[in-house]
Amino acid sequence: MISSPTFDELHERVRAIAKDVAAPQAADVDNNARFPAETISALKHAKILSAAVPKAFGGPDLNMQQLGYLCSSLSAACGSSGMVLAMHFNQLTCIARHYCDSDFFKSYLAEVVTEQPLLSSITSEEGTFGDTRSSICALERHHGRFTLKKEATTGSYCAFADAILVTCRRNSEAANNDQLLVLVKKGNYSLTQTTSWDTMGMRGTCSPGFSLDSSGDECQILPNDYAEIASLTMVPYSHILWSSLWWGIANDAYHRAARYVRGQARKNPGSLPPTATRLAELSVQLQSMKNNWLATAAEFDDISTLSDAKARLQDLRWAVKMNNLKISCSNQAPEIVHKSLQIVGLLGYKNDSPYSLSRHYRDVLSASLMISNDRIAGKSATLLMVSKDD
Ligand SMILES: Cc1cc2nc3c(=O)[nH]c(=O)nc-3n(C[C@H](O)[C@H](O)[C@H](O)COP(=O)(O)OP(=O)(O)OC[C@H]3O[C@@H](n4cnc5c(N)ncnc54)[C@H](O)[C@@H]3O)c2cc1C
Repeated sequence: MISSPTFDELHERVRAIAKDVAAPQAADVDNNARFPAETISALKHAKILSAAVPKAFGGPDLNMQQLGYLCSSLSAACGSSGMVLAMHFNQLTCIARHYCDSDFFKSYLAEVVTEQPLLSSITSEEGTFGDTRSSICALERHHGRFTLKKEATTGSYCAFADAILVTCRRNSEAANNDQLLVLVKKGNYSLTQTTSWDTMGMRGTCSPGFSLDSSGDECQILPNDYAEIASLTMVPYSHILWSSLWWGIANDAYHRAARYVRGQARKNPGSLPPTATRLAELSVQLQSMKNNWLATAAEFDDISTLSDAKARLQDLRWAVKMNNLKISCSNQAPEIVHKSLQIVGLLGYKNDSPYSLSRHYRDVLSASLMISNDRIAGKSATLLMVSKDD
């Protein structure tokens, strides 16, 4: 049996792809709002897409901190590519942590290692107004098969994915929050694009609306209820990995500013440029943002080893912690990029300068909207009325 690569090996591969493939293509991906096909193909070739597959199925079984490092390293070069990788890992962990005793999903996880399929997600739906814990569409089952139609408002890189995980109601009688998660593979579905994706940032995620028309075998329905998958996996992985990649973008913006300030210092040896103090202040915020996602990732990894992990991850205090991380990092990333821009000045404002911060700025502005911070704060407000303090 071939042993799976270590975290250090995988991280080195991602760093090389970030530098040699993602960074040179990032401006073109952004200008043309096109899918970062070269980067995703390089990730597949380097066996990165199976990084979260458990060892039992031949994968490297990376933990949350390690996945976060992969996403942040890639997003520093191209925010859209980092977001695609984070969303893929999030879908993969939903399968890896909730396959129960399903033979179909066990063999699919082994297939992820050999075939490196790219997984995307459709939780959004016309009429649910951004509430991922609510579906209108419902599964229809007949003789061991299902059909599912969904009107998605936003579906990142669905047109380029090899499979999509879709939320839906259990059946047509079920309540809106009685949801399941279904894996539809290429060949199982047709997509009709219904809206455009001409956005300020994250343009390479290619996330327009779609009509999804799918069918498949009942074994493609994940055994656990979506309520459980969401609290134990989808929410923690999305919020922590998104935070890591927003930090990766902010970190690259900071480094551009640092390069600029050091250049100023070299021009006037012996005197400190006035921007150096601003840079020092900014490094405080950058460090605090990194510590926030990394500490939460480490806590998640520690909790995951405990016998009462499920109860802890379903505790209201953990839910508030996830919400706080998402709100905090999605607010900090644009602030850090903004302050980097104030340090660099016009050369950061220009699109064609080596210090340009235009794409970074536009990309991180999506963070507070991607599951609206107002919606998340509203949920925390309700939880805090009944949650015990630590
Ligand atoms: C880059 C990017 C990629 C995405 N990729 C995907 C994907 O792959 N799959 C997918 O399914 N979805 C995806 N989404 C969509 C995402 O999951 C959300 O559905 C979407 O961001 C919510 O859109 P909205 O702002 O229109 O909706 P809403 O959340 O309804 O927000 C609309 C407005 O209502 C306000 N609001 C909402 N709730 C409250 C409240 N409780 N209190 C006060 N104000 C409130 C908000 O502030 C906002 O101004 C993506 C989004 C982005 C930005």
